[in-house]
Amino acid sequence: MLVDQFGRKHTSVRVSVTDRCNLRCTYCMPADTPDYAERREILTFEEITRVVRIAAGLGVDDVRLTGGEPLVRSQLHKLVASIGEISGIKKVSLTTNGILLADQLPDLLSAGLKSVNISLDALDESAFTQITRRPGLKRVLDVIAVCQEQGIKVKINAIAMRDFTEHQIVAFGEFARRTGIPVRFIEFMPLDSDGNWVESKVLSGQQILKMFSQQVRPVVPKNQPNASPATDYEFDDGVGTVGIIASVTEPFCSTCNRFRLTADGQLRNCLFGGDSGDVRQLLRGGSSDETIAQLLHDAVLSKHRGHGTDDLSFDRPSRPMYSIGG
Ligand code: SAM
Ligand code: SF4
Repeated sequence: MLVDQFGRKHTSVRVSVTDRCNLRCTYCMPADTPDYAERREILTFEEITRVVRIAAGLGVDDVRLTGGEPLVRSQLHKLVASIGEISGIKKVSLTTNGILLADQLPDLLSAGLKSVNISLDALDESAFTQITRRPGLKRVLDVIAVCQEQGIKVKINAIAMRDFTEHQIVAFGEFARRTGIPVRFIEFMPLDSDGNWVESKVLSGQQILKMFSQQVRPVVPKNQPNASPATDYEFDDGVGTVGIIASVTEPFCSTCNRFRLTADGQLRNCLFGGDSGDVRQLLRGGSSDETIAQLLHDAVLSKHRGHGTDDLSFDRPSRPMYSIGG
């Protein structure tokens, strides 16, 4: 098992398949195309599958594919299928902005994808374009509707930024009630490329819950698994679920069970830490599975107790979100 020095078992890995993206969300990417990793630096599907197989041998059973935008990586469904075949892997899921999902959905479903998290921060086109610096709201709403029609488990992730996405919160609460799709709000974290994060721009989970109570209906907590970063609530009439991922104001480090593999093959034991192991070098240097397993162990063992964003000495991570894999 991958157990850290605080006894946390790591059973979940987030795999970034690319640092490229077709949107330019202001809280994540710069307006201009950044210096992406070179193609030769990016792990192949075979390399990713090997790392996941080794991780599965150490108790990892849950894999989320992310990016950048994972669907800009061609033939992603092939990776979904090969990871899904690994003994011990119970769940392969995807976090996407949804822009390219409609075209790829049939292949992804045939490959065994069961659930998808779609990031959507606004329900009106002008706010969507302001936030993502690209058009595309209709495409995203259309594919959400298709997922629902086909019975695919879908959740919405929306960023919570004061004065920016704040005016979308109530509309999302009503959307959750109308569609039955859970909407989770992620507090804005200091991982934007532009370096504009300041604490005053974080719209806290508590403030969001208050907005619901005052402007939609009161919410009550739902039962949920311990390791989930989200706290889910339902409206008090039982209609509609909303969740809060309060990474900044109420960190969930004590129950964290995940680590990350970046697109260029670096392990990250925490979103806010540095790179914690160079898997690519081992993969390409002919290392054995045992050596790679040891690197996974070491990466998890070096994990800190908490992410420390509330510490005055906290340094922003050198990589922004799109290059780590959110
Ligand atoms: N492109 C895909 C998408 O947007 O779903 C996957 C990658 S994206 C980096 C994953 C998640 O990270 C998205 O839900 C996005 O809202 C979130 N994210 C990006 N930058 C963030 C930040 N600075 N603070 C909090 N969440 C952030
Ligand atoms: Fe792209 Fe996702 Fe970052 Fe938006 S949040 S810029 S969609 S990687």
